[in-house]
Amino acid sequence: MIDLHSHSTASDGRLSPTALIERAAARGVARLALTDHDTVAGVPEGRRAAVAHGIELVAGAEISVQWQRRTLHVVGLDLDIAHPTLVTGLDRHQRERDARAAAIARRLATVGLPDGLARARSASAGGQITRAHFADLLIADGLARNRAAAFKRYLAPGRIGHQRAEWASLGEAIDWIHAAGGDAVLAHPFGYGFSGAWRWRAVAAFAAAGGDGLEICTGVSSREQESRASRDAQEYGLAASVGSDFHAAEQFWLDLGCTRQPPARLARVAALAREL
Ligand code: AMP
Ligand code: MN
Ligand code: MN
Ligand code: MN
Repeated sequence: MIDLHSHSTASDGRLSPTALIERAAARGVARLALTDHDTVAGVPEGRRAAVAHGIELVAGAEISVQWQRRTLHVVGLDLDIAHPTLVTGLDRHQRERDARAAAIARRLATVGLPDGLARARSASAGGQITRAHFADLLIADGLARNRAAAFKRYLAPGRIGHQRAEWASLGEAIDWIHAAGGDAVLAHPFGYGFSGAWRWRAVAAFAAAGGDGLEICTGVSSREQESRASRDAQEYGLAASVGSDFHAAEQFWLDLGCTRQPPARLARVAALAREL
């Protein structure tokens, strides 16, 4: 099995890179991409664990992108994690995440969440602070029942705890990935709450900006969505990728390697096409 999208404690995943690799190996995943939000900090540890467990780690990152006043996620695969263009770009996003976290904490303080920045920082334990960390604080303080409710009520665009971030443009993120020798993949095309027309626009803009691939099968995609994404990929000349987007074992409905294969007629991104 090949899984090209997963998270560790370097961002909002629950497992350390080592524990993630252990779980992947136990589930029969032979090649795993670690793709934390706006960071490659987990990759060195992941590499060591992958060697110990006899599986292959693909160095990746899931880069947040600003597009048409919306956020898209672009997964970079097979990255040279020391390339200065990539390092500079991810540094910029890390500063943006820190500034955004401080602003979110100030906003949430006004609705009864005290000390949000220090607590989010402590929960992220040196990794990137994400809105998922704030969702967990809202749950811990009894302000939301679960993550979905925390996002809906407090963290989604237009809600009290939302703070806009200045992420890279599609072209910038794709350039960072290409500079570092990687492939750029538009993540979870059905994960943005877009109508069909907006999905086509996003896929078209991604392809026009030089993107390489589209995630066809994810941990939550239906067969219907996979066939629509396959048609999008063919229409816009994108290769296929697959990735669970695993964050935590508590998400019992999806797990590492738990993805179907894309249709044989589609070209595949390099990390999927390579022989195991
Ligand atoms: P951020 O990149 O900091 O904006 O955080 C985005 C992350 O929050 C996503 O990668 C998901 O892991 C999580 N997330 C976003 N929306 C939801 C939601 N409605 N329910 C649960 N988790 C979500
Ligand atoms: Mn996430
Ligand atoms: Mn994502
Ligand atoms: Mn992800």
